[in-house]
Amino acid sequence: MEINKDGAFLLPERPTKTICDVLVIGGGPSGASTAFWLASNGYDVLLVERKTFPREKTCGDGLTPRSVRQLIDMGVEESLSLAHKYFGLRTRAFGKELTLEWPKVSGLPEYGYVITRYDLDELVLNNAEKAGAAVWQGCEATAVNFTDDSVYIRVKDKSRDTVSEVEAKYLVIAEGANSRIGRSLQVKRDRQLPFGLAIRGYYSSPRSRDPYIESQLDIRDEKGTLLPGYGWIFPLGDGRVNVGIGLVSTMAGWKEVNTTSLLNTFVKQTPSSWGLSEESRLSEPTGGKLPMGMSSTHLRGKRYLVVGDAGGMINPFNGEGIAYGYESGRLAAATLSEAISCNDADLLDNYLDMLDMHYGSYYKVARLFLRLMGNQDVLKILTSTGMHSKTVMTILLKIMSNLMSEDDIGLAEVILKSASKLARGIPG
Ligand SMILES: Cc1cc2nc3c(=O)[nH]c(=O)nc-3n(C[C@H](O)[C@H](O)[C@H](O)COP(=O)(O)OP(=O)(O)OC[C@H]3O[C@@H](n4cnc5c(N)ncnc54)[C@H](O)[C@@H]3O)c2cc1C
Repeated sequence: MEINKDGAFLLPERPTKTICDVLVIGGGPSGASTAFWLASNGYDVLLVERKTFPREKTCGDGLTPRSVRQLIDMGVEESLSLAHKYFGLRTRAFGKELTLEWPKVSGLPEYGYVITRYDLDELVLNNAEKAGAAVWQGCEATAVNFTDDSVYIRVKDKSRDTVSEVEAKYLVIAEGANSRIGRSLQVKRDRQLPFGLAIRGYYSSPRSRDPYIESQLDIRDEKGTLLPGYGWIFPLGDGRVNVGIGLVSTMAGWKEVNTTSLLNTFVKQTPSSWGLSEESRLSEPTGGKLPMGMSSTHLRGKRYLVVGDAGGMINPFNGEGIAYGYESGRLAAATLSEAISCNDADLLDNYLDMLDMHYGSYYKVARLFLRLMGNQDVLKILTSTGMHSKTVMTILLKIMSNLMSEDDIGLAEVILKSASKLARGIPG
């Protein structure tokens, strides 16, 4: 970076006009993965991110083996040496506790990590840049226009107070849950489908190096009513734990839910060995929406694709979205690579086929599960039955984390068929 005569750093100039193969909007997991895979395939990709990394992002900070697989494939795992490695899930409900190891699944590691998004997202974005992607931080995409052959994107650089016009063959929308450009292109959540809401805070804890993440399946409000969702404690290994709750919108009284007071109630219900209280809370909790179950429409336009949360790709079973951001970014990059090399925009349809192949039947079942969760009786039966058997709970963990091997599919079908029988009795 250049320095002026007073010793201050000069920001490099941004070109007012620039041309690339693909412009990616957003530098979170889905955008960084798209940019990484496109740049690795030799395409000319520019990613614009409105914030300057490292930046806070509200999240549980939990990476499952599915996310780790993607990080290994992008060559990022070595940089995670300081992140907290964990080996499974300790789950509690109705006074019972079960400790489950991550199951052995071909092609997946048997561990996960807990790492703040402050650290993780910067690592993954830097990795995309190293692979050859151009990254403009502090730059917001504010408007897009399409012609038959190109897309023109207006990009505002906040620190320089300049505007650039980028011409690209294709656009990828990776803006996250609140996707402004996506909305302007009619990318909308299907309002018939449920969504999630989650809140988390950081706490200091003597068990920050615990080798298991923990979930509480029978969370309750102040009046003791059972809620559809779960509470979590994810140890960060540095003296802190990430504590949160996630809920689904199928519950009665959804609109009146106060997530901050539910989080406080949950904290009071956690085992005392974690040392969680108002006093050990390190920052104000923050929350956000979880667009889930492939709930968005228009994920493909003539010259654009939508990835990650902007497309509603969070797994409805467990609220996990990082893996699906990485994976959908990779699928989008593969589709665009082909479309560019064949000079055929119609090939963008392949993205929808790939999404359907990877997630279609799983997310259909997951949406049914969400509907079941809205019924207190079913919720009680499912959770308490599972807690009686480690074998059943391990199968459920595999299903909920989308870690099923071919052999498990039969078992999953049996469970889900029983679930759908129960669902037929539930209105809505
Ligand atoms: C409370 C909570 C807990 C969660 N816990 C977990 C968890 O433990 N594990 C897990 O896997 N998932 C979790 N999730 C879900 C996870 O955070 C998301 O699924 C994931 O961040 C999606 O990645 P993304 O890249 O699609 O979007 P984001 O991570 O939201 O990234 C979008 C990026 O785009 C940028 N951007 C937006 N608009 C523009 C624009 N116009 N121009 C330029 N830049 C723009 C934003 O600044 C942002 O950096 C949680 C979510 C919440 C709310």
